[in-house]
Amino acid sequence: MTRPRALLLDAMGTLIGLKQPVGAIYAEAAADHGLSLDAEPLERAFLQAYREAPPLAFPGTATIHLEQAERHWWQQRIAATFAGVGVPQLPMGLAANLFDRFAGPEPWGVYPEVPDALARWRDRGLRLVVVSNFDRRLHRLLQRLGLGEALEAVVVSSEVGAAKPDPEPLLRALDLLGLPAAAVWHIGDSDADEAAAAAAGIPCLRLARPGGVHLPLAVSGPAPADAPPDPGPIGSS
Ligand SMILES: [Mg+2]
Repeated sequence: MTRPRALLLDAMGTLIGLKQPVGAIYAEAAADHGLSLDAEPLERAFLQAYREAPPLAFPGTATIHLEQAERHWWQQRIAATFAGVGVPQLPMGLAANLFDRFAGPEPWGVYPEVPDALARWRDRGLRLVVVSNFDRRLHRLLQRLGLGEALEAVVVSSEVGAAKPDPEPLLRALDLLGLPAAAVWHIGDSDADEAAAAAAGIPCLRLARPGGVHLPLAVSGPAPADAPPDPGPIGSS
């Protein structure tokens, strides 16, 4: 592999992760609507609903209808999750409650080594673009988590109309950068990252996060600025 001029970075499980399991956050939101449910079965049901979901992408959808499409996509995942734990009918407002919760920075955190890694890469002249299978909430979320400054652009599947393992989101990033595939690397944590990069002809460094998209416990309390001073390089396999 030649030295890259830009890095295309996955978001969830690569730069940012969740402070608590999705199931715990769903249980909290459900409690607001009078439902008492255990977090663990919700977590399992969510993972199954997410695995079975169609890509978070809406080809042919006009920009003004995208937020509605995104909310509808998540409402279907949320409904499938609750159906999986024996709640066939979502309480009114629960899906919107959850969509809005995950839009804010509270459930999320930045992996400890990431701020330093981004700064180091920028110092070396690397251009950084996020390419994520997520929706338009990610733009503001990354800003609010303090990563916006380091990033030249954020590409989300919802806006591209295709999600990894489709190479299209990565190709869109190359377009934005004006660089060929040979001039960038992709860094991600999933099979979809590897497959999309392979299809785009982009070398891929795959992270192995021991906790998956769940942040190490130490990150749950302090802000990213309190991360250990010498975290070492961002990992690869
Ligand atoms: Mg990921």
